[in-house]
Order: sequence, then C-alpha cells, then structure tokens
Amino acid sequence: MSRYFALVFVSLLLNACTPEPALYQQQLVVFGTIVDISLWGVEQQKAEQAVSAIDRDFQRMHYEWHAWEPGPLTAINESIARGESATVIPSLIPIIKRSQVLYRQSDGLFNPAIGRLLNLWGFQSSERPHRPPPAKAAIAALVDAAPGMDDVTINNGVLSSSNTDVQFDFGAFAKGYAIDLAIERLRAMGFGNAIVNGGGDLRAIGSKGERPWRVGVRHPQGEGILAALEVQGDESVFTSGNYERFNEYEGVRYTHILDPRTGWPVKGITSVTVIHDNGADADAAATALVVAGVSQWHRIARQIGIKYAMLVDEAGTVYMNPAMKRRVEFQSGVQPKVVLSDSL
Ligand code: AMP
Ligand code: MG
Repeated sequence: MSRYFALVFVSLLLNACTPEPALYQQQLVVFGTIVDISLWGVEQQKAEQAVSAIDRDFQRMHYEWHAWEPGPLTAINESIARGESATVIPSLIPIIKRSQVLYRQSDGLFNPAIGRLLNLWGFQSSERPHRPPPAKAAIAALVDAAPGMDDVTINNGVLSSSNTDVQFDFGAFAKGYAIDLAIERLRAMGFGNAIVNGGGDLRAIGSKGERPWRVGVRHPQGEGILAALEVQGDESVFTSGNYERFNEYEGVRYTHILDPRTGWPVKGITSVTVIHDNGADADAAATALVVAGVSQWHRIARQIGIKYAMLVDEAGTVYMNPAMKRRVEFQSGVQPKVVLSDSL
C-alpha cells in the first residue's frame, strides 16, 4: 500500500475537468496518495456529505491501523514483543482474521506478520530509504524466527501470539480494505454508481450512466497507464509494483515487497494487476503474486480465487490468463510480448 493518511483536502473538483453534468469528483490525500472519489448521477449536497463521511472514516483508519505511528496497532505489536496478550480494537479484528485466510491461501507469500523485516529494510518510514541492505545475519535471524499469521489467535477480542517476532504491518492490504469500507459507506448512503480510486487501485460499482466505468491499469514504470479496461458491476482493480517504493543504494533498487521465505526484496517482477470482487483481497493478492513471480503466480492466484491476473516482468513481458487478456486493452503503441497461461 502506498503510505498513508495525512488526510488533507486537496481540491473540490465539481465538474471542473469534465463537461459531463452528472459526474461528481472529489480528491482526498490519504494513504500517502490521492484518493479520487467519482459519483455518477447524484445531488451535489448529498455527494459532499458522503465524501466528508469517507474523509472522517479514513482519518480514523489511519490512526487505528498504522504500523509505525503510535496508535492501537503499534500497541498490539509492543504487547506481542513482550510476550503478552493484547485487546484488539474492533476495526482491526476483521483485518487480522481476513489476513490469516489470505496468508494460508498464498502459502505465506502474503505475510503481514513480517513488520520486523520491513523495519530492518527501512520500509517502515514515509521517506524513501537510501541505505545499504541490512546485515545478512540480521535478515537470516528474522527468517528463521518465521513470524506468520498462524502464530496468532483472537478469542473474545483478545489476541495472543506464540511467536514474539510477529509484528503486524498491513501495508499490503489496508488500502484495499479501506476502499471496500468507503464503497460500503457510499452504498449505505444510497449511491450505486461510484469509483473509489487510491492512486490507481480502485473499486468501482454500478456504471457511468449508460456506459460502464472505464479505468486505467497503472504502468509498471510508474508513469501513466499501461492498459485500459471496463469494470462490470462491482469490481476492484489493484496493481502492486516495485516502482512505487524502494530503497535505492549504489544504483541498486530494492523493492518494498519482501519475499518472506528469504527476507530479501523480490526481483524480476515489475508489476502485478488483479481484478477481483473486493478490494481487500485484490490488494493482498496483487502483493502475493509479485512474490510468487512467473513460476508460481498461477497456482497462488487459483488458491486465492483470483479470476483475472496480469504480471509484467523486468523485460516487459506480460503474463496473464485468457480471461484477463480478453479484458485489457493496451494503450495504442504498446504491444508487449504476451505469454498466456491456462485458465484460472
Ligand atoms: P502493496 O503496494 O499493496 O504491494 O503493498 C506493499 C507493502 O506491503 C510494503 O510497503 C510493505 O509494507 C508490505 N509488504 C511487503 N512485502 C510483503 C509481504 N510479502 N506480505 C505482506 N506485506 C508485505
Ligand atoms: Mg497489496
């Protein structure tokens, strides 16, 4: 997840960029990225109320789920490190429980218990680190300690961990889950046609009037879009990549996505895009498939239940399943080499 929620209103773009009268768009800066909220066919005043409500929700999530700014999650991490049990605030319980399922389905490649490793690499910071890789022995010690989501149990809201090296960091999942909650909030307020788009990761519901919503897939090099696709009904499109956050030291880029089996940043994959029926699982799956890489993405996608996935490797080769191929339209002038997999 791109970081985090210094929640500030940037602008209110009411029909400013588009001649379409029924489109309401507003931007918030949250999760260290711009979140665009688009609503179709709504009254301005109701739309403003909805966006203010989402703004307040995001501020609370920022505080409650942050992995290193002091708050409820860092308090839980401190209790785990001391070998003590901890009371879990209600908003974190479904995050932990869903993450346990995704951890198992991904064979541990999505592992939000590796906060210590992320911290060791300097990725628990809003600054981009520029430092040499950590000492090999320090990495190996944390890999041997093998913190995982199966080490924790929650009973009646109280969490205990059998492994004191578990430190939660939901950076790969929380943006998707937050976007799901924003969509839930919009639906509860009566909005059926909307997109909540956090820096290119989005969930769309309904349509844009007579037409389906059309969205971009982020380019692996981080600029512009690689492809476009139409979203149908209620779908989430999430992309994970190594261009977003990384440690650059002496000309070598170390991406912020770590392989929990080795403790080292993933190599070879520049981005993974998935389409799925909810943002939280799409977010976790995109990260897991970056770790899985060319040789294992198909199996892991099947285990998680992903029906559309696309990987781009460092050479620009695109790997995807046939159903995904039928949906993506590459930008004109872009004709990557495509390797088609079996169906998912
Ligand atoms: P995303 O942009 O959704 O792929 O999330 C990347 C973020 O997830 C990183 O900045 C880390 O905070 C965290 N992360 C890195 N590697 C993993 C992993 N293997 N499993 C779970 N979270 C990870
Ligand atoms: Mg993710």
